[in-house]
Amino acid sequence: MKVIARDLAARYFVGEVKYPAFFPTVYGRDRPSTEGVVVNVYRIWTDRESRKIVKKSVGEYLDYGGFVLPESGWRQIDKYGDDDVANEDLVEIQEKMEFPVVAPLPSAKPDDAIINAEVARSITDKPLFLEIPTSWTEKEIFAFVEATKGWAWGYGTRAGRSEFIELLVKTVPRSKRVVVFGIHHPAVIPVIVSLGVDVVTSGAHGRYADKELYITESSIRPLGELKELPCGCKICDGRTPEDLGTKGDLLAEHNLISFVEEVKKTRNAIVEGRLYEYAKRRSLTHPQIYKDFKKVVASEWITENLPFPKQSSIYLFEKECRPEIELGRSLAKKRGVRLEGLAYTYPFGQVYPPIVEARPSPELVVRSVIKYQYGVDVNTSQLRWETRKGIPRKIYMGDKYLGLIRHGDGFFVPSIEGAKWLKEMAPPPAFRIVLDSEGVEAVRLKRSPLTDHVLDVDPDLRPNMEVIVTDEDDEVVATGRSVLTAREVAEIPRTVAVKIRHRAV
Ligand SMILES: [Zn+2]
Repeated sequence: MKVIARDLAARYFVGEVKYPAFFPTVYGRDRPSTEGVVVNVYRIWTDRESRKIVKKSVGEYLDYGGFVLPESGWRQIDKYGDDDVANEDLVEIQEKMEFPVVAPLPSAKPDDAIINAEVARSITDKPLFLEIPTSWTEKEIFAFVEATKGWAWGYGTRAGRSEFIELLVKTVPRSKRVVVFGIHHPAVIPVIVSLGVDVVTSGAHGRYADKELYITESSIRPLGELKELPCGCKICDGRTPEDLGTKGDLLAEHNLISFVEEVKKTRNAIVEGRLYEYAKRRSLTHPQIYKDFKKVVASEWITENLPFPKQSSIYLFEKECRPEIELGRSLAKKRGVRLEGLAYTYPFGQVYPPIVEARPSPELVVRSVIKYQYGVDVNTSQLRWETRKGIPRKIYMGDKYLGLIRHGDGFFVPSIEGAKWLKEMAPPPAFRIVLDSEGVEAVRLKRSPLTDHVLDVDPDLRPNMEVIVTDEDDEVVATGRSVLTAREVAEIPRTVAVKIRHRAV
């Protein structure tokens, strides 16, 4: 899992497709241009032609080259009370049709669902996609995930309460995908992606089109009520509402584009470090989405995963809960640093209008910044610094260059000498990533060490921290910028654990 960018608890990475992703549910032979689709296996099973169908691979059946995610069809089976279909039947269809991942039937009871997963495992070698009913308790989800995570590609649930989605994302190992089925409007995408959901799916584009409903940026309108098409997509450009009314597939395609564009814009917002702003703007389309947004961004889960510092400035339009500022305040409080000394430091130095108006002395800045980042109180009488416009930049101890206070975010970036000096002030694993000998060898060969070679990390590790990389004997190997949380280092194999800045080996 190579994470390209991240913001809030969302991660932009490339796997089978670009994640976070939108997969439309397809029926029959639609061929959307998305990188992935969802297919209901129960519908294939009930198809009278199913015997002929299962002789083909799912790619041939759909005439589609992208990634196909199976949905078991549990809800339909439940609704129609079809007792004829067994878990084995559906798993066998998927195995025969060469689905890239296989979805066994879920169950209202976690124990039965575990049995279904075990049966699937005896039929196929493919990784499993496991659906979790929204009725399960936290304990049940935990027990199920523990029993199945070794075989899982990912876990999915129906769209609904944001608390339940958060619970699921928190319980599932960070190396697995989390899928949310059946969203009703694109505007919810940035909000649930902020929680760390990797795939959202919906069949609404076609269902709405059947009822002549058109997705606008903020709502769903009967096509007949529109005087013109408020959209510049390749379908709407140069057409009138009447044009779409006579051709249902054009309307379905516009609706589909609305979902696809939304996920692209969400990915862009992650890259820009502006997911908060984007999700907020989109959530203002409906009070319920806004309520969810506010709950999501105030959650501890977001704070735990938040990249910090970020390079983007923060505009405050009203009194609001910005996770960056809340985290900055709580770190300052925990480490006993007055905000005055952090007037140039992220996030306080990047907020407009400013929330800290002080002009602290260079000495106070040096002490405060190092304490804020590393929790150690340094003796500034041993240090000297070069200042620019009254703000300390390069820090020295005698002739030794210890590092610099970065212009953009006011964070201290230690040199190798600075790392050796800092680590003496706190026992491992504080602000460290500890590597085994293979990890050290990777650094020596100018490669990025992988999570498999990490022995220990600071339990409060989060993306974008200026960390010290050490070996087993606490000797400095390098300095670098972290890219994962402590939990991700433990849970995601074979992925870059730290971006190396300076090497000592
Ligand atoms: Zn359009």
